[in-house]
Amino acid sequence: MQNSLERWLWLAGAVVLASPGAASAAALAPLPAEVGTLQRAALAGTAAADLARSLATEAGPRPAGSEGLARGVAWGLATLGRLGFENVRAEPVTVPHWERGTASGEIVAPFPQPVALAALGGSIGTVEGGIEAEVVATENLETLAKLPAEAVRGRIVYFGERMQRTRDGAGYGKTVPIRSKGPAAAAKLGAVAVLIRSVGTDSNRLPHTGTTTYEEGSAKIAAAALSIPDADLLEQQLLSGRAVRFRLHLGCRELPEVESANVVGELRGRERPEEVVVLSGHLDSWDLGTGALDDAAGIGNAIAAAQLIAALPERPRRTIRIVLYANEEFGLSGGKAYAAAHGDELSQHQAGLESDLGSGRVFRLRTSFAPEDAAFAGTLARALAPLGVELDVATRASGGADVSPIAALGVPMVDLAHDVTTYFDFHHTANDTADKLVPADMAQATAAFATVAWMLAEHPNLLHRSPPPPKLP
Ligand code: ZN
Ligand code: ZN
Repeated sequence: MQNSLERWLWLAGAVVLASPGAASAAALAPLPAEVGTLQRAALAGTAAADLARSLATEAGPRPAGSEGLARGVAWGLATLGRLGFENVRAEPVTVPHWERGTASGEIVAPFPQPVALAALGGSIGTVEGGIEAEVVATENLETLAKLPAEAVRGRIVYFGERMQRTRDGAGYGKTVPIRSKGPAAAAKLGAVAVLIRSVGTDSNRLPHTGTTTYEEGSAKIAAAALSIPDADLLEQQLLSGRAVRFRLHLGCRELPEVESANVVGELRGRERPEEVVVLSGHLDSWDLGTGALDDAAGIGNAIAAAQLIAALPERPRRTIRIVLYANEEFGLSGGKAYAAAHGDELSQHQAGLESDLGSGRVFRLRTSFAPEDAAFAGTLARALAPLGVELDVATRASGGADVSPIAALGVPMVDLAHDVTTYFDFHHTANDTADKLVPADMAQATAAFATVAWMLAEHPNLLHRSPPPPKLP
């Protein structure tokens, strides 16, 4: 431990950073020794990758409602207990249960060929013998809206927008509406089914699944993603100028909801145990792979970061709470259940962190801190600089999907963005397996998560709410 003067300087450094022209004075304020200790220990180990591989191997695919997810919950409870975390418990979450069943598709004309495809999560099944219709191609939701109704009615709509490869995953956010909303939009115009070009960046003959959401009261139609080479094949046939007919068979079905659980474990704080830093990932995955990247990697990061903090000579002021959410992929029921169960504690939640973008290095820090805490974001950035992490003050942190329900209730968020240059080659495919984990990159990410979680837990003040929650009448 450092002496109390240095502790005061840490806070003072944060304060002087806030005033223009004071950066040189701030640079003099030493960071707590624990920052270096945590980072060196993280970079020397492979705990995050080992934990991720263990979950992916021992529980396997973990879609909501499945036996695999039940094994994931059991793995979480056993692992947090074995590693010595406190208050290890299962908090109940009701999750949907959708089953993929069998899927097949073929181009019937003009040049007949079978294709590789996968149902979108939540899709209805087709009738027994499948559905056959002519294909009408469009780019995305905007171009669909410009098509005359008679061009869509009775047809299979194909969305062909291509996802761009970027370090920060911006291409995913731009393209994913063809998957999440395309089927609902096409159904409204009278389409009989939807095919999409997989939302991904690879050239493997493996489709990318992911949820689609129908609109309440509107028609539901079957929806599937073509692997990217098969999307190219379909487009080539469309370019022939001849009518392209397609036959789709999906055996998906919706089963009754299942009781599952968020898994929680804690490192109780030494001074203010009732104040909490949430450090999290999600246990569930898609069924096609073993969910090693999405999101066993995030689970591994969260647990490994907390283990490093537990190994310090002294606990931080506040509690670090590891939350392994039950269900992110299928409607966020894990994050929503956490927010509902802990609503009356959220004013004492210091901040939320989630790792849910694979096993890449962390390259960027964003926060959603209130203006009063902007200087502390600068201090976090200073602590992360040796790891090559840069601060982006232009954009507010959104938190991960699972922490978004508590972000909406005013809990400040910190985003530690993983480099996802290659993540979307594997995301939501059968190729999301443990061989894709990169232990050295995960160690760097663990160092970043451990640093930020510890600094949030040790910070002298409870952070201002962000944005302030609405006032009760
Ligand atoms: Zn996912
Ligand atoms: Zn995820």
